[in-house]
Amino acid sequence: MDLAFLNNLRKISDEDDRLVTITLLIDITSNLISDRNNHRYHTLPICYIREMFQKYTGAMQCLHTIGFKQINDDYVFDQSVSDKQLQEIVKLLENELDPKPIDKCEEVKCNSLDLGISDNDRSSNSLISFDNFHVSSHFDKLIPFVSILKRVQSYEDINLQHYIRSKIIPLEDFNRRISKKMKSTDINKRDLLLLELLRWFKEEFFTWFDRANCDYCKKPMDFAEYIQPTREEREYGDAHRVELYRCSTCSSEYRFPRFNAPIKLLETRSGRCGEAANLFACLCRSLSFLTRYIYDPSDHVWTEVYSESEQRWLHCDSCENLCDSPLVYEKGWKKELTFCIAFAKDHIGDVTWRYVTNFRQIIQRRNINEKNFARTIHQINRKIQSQLNQEEKIKIISNQIKDIVSMLNEEKSAKESELHGRQSGSLGWKLSRGETDQQDDVINGYVYSITNEECEKGSIQIEYNSVADKYLRNGIEEIKKDGWIDRVYSCSNIQRKIEKDWKMVYLCREHLHTNGILSWTIQLKPEEEKFYQFHHISIQCPSKAFDQYTQIICQLQIDDKQIIDLSQNLSSNSLFEYSLDNKLDSLTNIRLTFKVTLNCSNDNNDNNAWQKGQLFRQSTDQVSNADQSHHLRIHATIRKRN
Ligand SMILES: [Zn+2]
Repeated sequence: MDLAFLNNLRKISDEDDRLVTITLLIDITSNLISDRNNHRYHTLPICYIREMFQKYTGAMQCLHTIGFKQINDDYVFDQSVSDKQLQEIVKLLENELDPKPIDKCEEVKCNSLDLGISDNDRSSNSLISFDNFHVSSHFDKLIPFVSILKRVQSYEDINLQHYIRSKIIPLEDFNRRISKKMKSTDINKRDLLLLELLRWFKEEFFTWFDRANCDYCKKPMDFAEYIQPTREEREYGDAHRVELYRCSTCSSEYRFPRFNAPIKLLETRSGRCGEAANLFACLCRSLSFLTRYIYDPSDHVWTEVYSESEQRWLHCDSCENLCDSPLVYEKGWKKELTFCIAFAKDHIGDVTWRYVTNFRQIIQRRNINEKNFARTIHQINRKIQSQLNQEEKIKIISNQIKDIVSMLNEEKSAKESELHGRQSGSLGWKLSRGETDQQDDVINGYVYSITNEECEKGSIQIEYNSVADKYLRNGIEEIKKDGWIDRVYSCSNIQRKIEKDWKMVYLCREHLHTNGILSWTIQLKPEEEKFYQFHHISIQCPSKAFDQYTQIICQLQIDDKQIIDLSQNLSSNSLFEYSLDNKLDSLTNIRLTFKVTLNCSNDNNDNNAWQKGQLFRQSTDQVSNADQSHHLRIHATIRKRN
C-alpha cells in the first residue's frame, strides 16, 4: 500500500483545511467498509473532487490508495482493495486527526526577508552525553553545573526548534516589523530580530506569575508551602517542586509547578525570571542565535546572545525587555553580584566581569579559591568539547579570545538605561531614533446615526469598556467585530494594549509614534434634522499622562465647523460638559465629533514613550460592569426644534 499520502496530508498548512480533508477521506472510506456493495458510495463526481480534494496532492494520493480511479468525468471505486486495507487506511487517517505532532510541522517560510535562521548545525545524535559526567569539586553546591548544562542541551532538539519556529514565534509578523524598521535604521537584521523577539516575549508572550488569585474571592492568595510535583509534572515538565497557594478567606488552593522543560513552558508561558530566561534562551536557539543562559546563584537568571554584527555577546533580560545593559543589576537594582556563570551548548564561562564595574573588588567578596574555580570551569569545558570536532573547537576559542579582549577594553560607565532599567542608550534605544511619524488620520468612518427612538427619548449614550473591548449603546451591548475600532470615526497610530504582566488594559499610541488620534461621531439623520438638534453633551474620558512630555487633548467639533477645546469645560474626574448654542431656526447642531489626541512633545529617547499617555486604563480583572469610572461615556441630549 502506498502511504505517500500521509506525508503530503501533513503538509496542508491550514489546520482547519487539513482536518476537514482528512475527515472527508475517513467518511468516504468508512462508507465503503460499512456497505461495500452500495453503489452510492462507488462514484465521486468530478465537481466534488475539484471542490474538495484536487488542491491537495495528499488527498488525491489517498483517494488512489483507497481505490478510486478516474473514469471519464468521475472517480470510481475499484473493488480490488480489501476491507482490511480500507480499515488500515481509516486507522492511519484517524491518527492524523490528533494535534499535529512536533516532527510533522511545516517550517514557516519568510520569503521577503532572509532572517538568517537555519537548522541547527549539529544533529541531535551528536549531542553531548552526560552519562558518567561528574564534576568533582566543591563548587557544584554553588553552581549546579550538570543540571544547567543538560537544560541548555535540551534547546538543541531540532524538532523542538522547528515547532517553535512554525507554531510559537509569529515570524511573518516579525518579518513585517523588521522590514519596516530597516528603512529607518542601520541596525543589523539579526540584531533587529533579537530586539523584536525580546519585545514580543515580554509584551505578548510571557505572563509574569507573582502569586495566584482566588477565582471566587477575587483577591490574591497567600503562599502556603512547597509540595512535591506529580509524576506527570516531573516527567513531562521537569518540575522539581510545586508552589502551593491558599486563599485566606475560602481556603481554596492553587498549585504552581515550577516547570523547567521548554516544551512544557511553551504551553504555560508563565512564571518568574527562571522560567523566562530558560524559555527565552530556547527561543533564541530556535532562531539560530548563539545563546548562553546566565546563572547568578543569588537569585536571578538571564540570557546572552552573540551578535555577529557587533562581534560580541549581548546581555538580554527577557523579563525586562532589556538588551545590552549589563550594568543594570549593579547600578539600577543595586545588587551585589558575585557570580555570573554562562552556560552555552558547548562551553561554560565565568562572565561576572561583564556585569560589574570593579571585578577586582568582587573577587575579594567571592571568598573562594579562584584558581580552583577556574580549573573546574576548564575541566568541564574540556569534557564538553572533547565530543566536538576541530572546527567547532576553534570557533569557541576564537569567541573566547574576543570576549577576553572586550573584558580588557570595556568602558565601565553605566548607560542611562542601566541606571533606570530603561532601554535608552542601548540597541533598542538606537532603534527608535530616526523613525518618523505619519500624521494622517485613518478614516474608519463609523457614525452613530441617531434613531427615531433616541430622538423621541431625547438622548443617546455611548459607552466603551476597554476590558471587554466592547461598546454599549444606551446600555445595550453592541455586536463586536474588531473591538475599539468598530465604532470610531477616525483614528491613527492607536493600539489597545494589554499588559499581561501587570494585568492592565488601555488604549495608547502605537510603538514609536509621537502622535495618535481617535474620534467618535454622532449625527442626526437627514429626515430628523429639521425637527431635532443636539442640546447638551457630557463626556467622560478617563485618561492619564505618565510624564510631562505627554499631552492629552480633548476636542469637540460641532457640525464639522466649530472646534471647541474641552479642557476649558472640564468639570471633574475627566468629565467634560458642554451646552450647545441653540439657534433653533438654522440647521445647526446636527453632528458632533469627539476627538482625543495623544501627543508627545519630546520622547526623551525613551523607547516606552508610546505608553506614557493612556486612555480608559483599568485592570483586566475588572470583569463585572460595576465600576464604570474607567469607561468612555458620551451622553448627548437631543431636543425638539419648535
Ligand atoms: Zn477565596
